[in-house]
This record gives sequence, C-alpha cells and structure tokens, in this order.
Amino acid sequence: MIYDISPSLGPDVAVWPGDTPLARRLACDLARGDRTTLSSLNATSHLGAHADAPSHFDLHGRPIDEQPLHLYLGTCRVIHVSVPAGGRVMPEMLEGALGAARVLLATGTYPDSTRFNRDFAGLSPDLVDDLHRRGVRLIGIDTPSVDPFDDDEHVAHHRCAAHDIAILEGLCLQDVPEGNYELIALPLKLVGFDASPVRAVLRTLI
Ligand SMILES: [Zn+2]
Repeated sequence: MIYDISPSLGPDVAVWPGDTPLARRLACDLARGDRTTLSSLNATSHLGAHADAPSHFDLHGRPIDEQPLHLYLGTCRVIHVSVPAGGRVMPEMLEGALGAARVLLATGTYPDSTRFNRDFAGLSPDLVDDLHRRGVRLIGIDTPSVDPFDDDEHVAHHRCAAHDIAILEGLCLQDVPEGNYELIALPLKLVGFDASPVRAVLRTLI
C-alpha cells in the first residue's frame, strides 16, 4: 500500500508569506487549437512537500543536487505528537524505539496546505540533538518549517545542519497511522538550489 504524503500543487497551494507562489503559463494549448499543450511553471523551490538543502541556511552547505540520495530513500518511522500550536516538539514527546534512520513527525498544526497558518509547530534543538544521538539522518515534518514561524534564529535548521540531518517539510501525514514505512522522497537535481519539491510517498513494509 502507498500513502501519498505530498499536498497537491495547484495555484492555491500556500507558500511562505512573501515567497513566490506557483504559477503555470501555457505556451501552447490544445484547447485553443495548438498542436500540443505546453506549459512552464514559476514558483519557490520550497513548494509543498520539499527538501531543504544545507545551503538554505549555511553559506558553505551543500546545494540540493549534491545531497546524498540515500537520505531520502529507506525505512522511516511516522510518529504523531501532541504539541501546542506554535510550540516545539520536545524529546520527551517521542517514546519508544525508532527502528529507522528517518523520522516523520505529524504535529497536526498545519492542517490545510491551501491556507498558511503561522502558529504551526517546529522542533526543539534538543530534539534534533537527541534524534542525532539515536542515529537519525532525516527529519520530516507536516509544517512549512522545522522552526516555528517567529523564530528568526532558525535554531532547529542550524542544529540539523550541524548534524548533517536532511530535512523534509510540508508533508501531509494526517492520514498515516504511526509505524514504520519505506520513504521515497527524492529531490530534483536542481544545480545549486537551496531546496527542491519532492513527491513524497510511504510504502508499507512487507
Ligand atoms: Zn526549512
């Protein structure tokens, strides 16, 4: 069974305030008599479900095309956490063994991908340190950022960079039961980019 954990990328998909929304331009259109339909897209690279590159917050960090692909492929654990709106997921909110080097956190604090609510939850730096100690190489979250909206220091992003932990943001996890899955969420090979949209899916383990 496959869970699609990516939001639809339509003109109404919300982006960070001030960032570039998705726009599609039709160069040719069968419906108006052209021989093909051919379109271009313009949008932030942090669109919908996306992978942040280390270069997003670190001048010397790797761009997205240089990220090792194995980070985005393989066994992951989905965990539903109870965290207040605008808060941070703390280490004590995660119980039990992970059994995976990738963790996806369902906070439920960003429920509608077409409406940008600013009171979504992020990660505590202590949680990032703790997951690193437990062998985690990728953290995914169902919010637009691993840091809360008002955190201009981006402490969780910097802790992830310090540990070389990959980041997925903007996932849709509300319908996924807790458990272990195979994650497939490859970023595009966008040379020099600070992020890439991903088509993130989970496959049930056999
Ligand atoms: Zn980010």
